[in-house]
Amino acid sequence: MKEMGSDPYFADTVERAWAVLATVADPEIPVISVVDLGIVRGIAVGDDGVEVSLTPTYAGCPATHVIESDIREALTRAGIAVRVVTRLAPPWTTDWITTTGRARLKEFGIAPPAPAGSRDGQIIRLVPRGANMQKTPACPHCGSAGTELLSQFGSTPCKALYRCVDCREPFDYFKPL
Ligand SMILES: [Zn+2]
Repeated sequence: MKEMGSDPYFADTVERAWAVLATVADPEIPVISVVDLGIVRGIAVGDDGVEVSLTPTYAGCPATHVIESDIREALTRAGIAVRVVTRLAPPWTTDWITTTGRARLKEFGIAPPAPAGSRDGQIIRLVPRGANMQKTPACPHCGSAGTELLSQFGSTPCKALYRCVDCREPFDYFKPL
């Protein structure tokens, strides 16, 4: 990544590129942008355009190709030449979903993921993978803590299906990863 922060041309291009990507929706959860999903890991700029580093949510996720071409299309349309590079390490975690992203998920009726673990520069999983599932997520509709697991798999494999015992509404829970 070039350090071009002092150069107004480069700084402006990076800022514009982030703004464009904030309008690119995740194909699986259209209410949340690829930026809020936390999969855009960086935007570097050079003389020939920008380089977007992308970390897919799941290795081999078929949506990755769709996301890549959506990003390319959006930036090209904004007049920014782009190259997308895939960065697999460190792996994506639900902890990278932004505060805005979490709020949008909840608005959409999806319970946002509990913290996946503690991170300090790199991912350290202090909590065993299954541990978060023991505590049920709060209902995104009425906020009740009384919820029950219906199925480990909701509308997509990354979500579990729950039901609220109070308002009786079923909802997807975005599983921590
Ligand atoms: Zn409820």
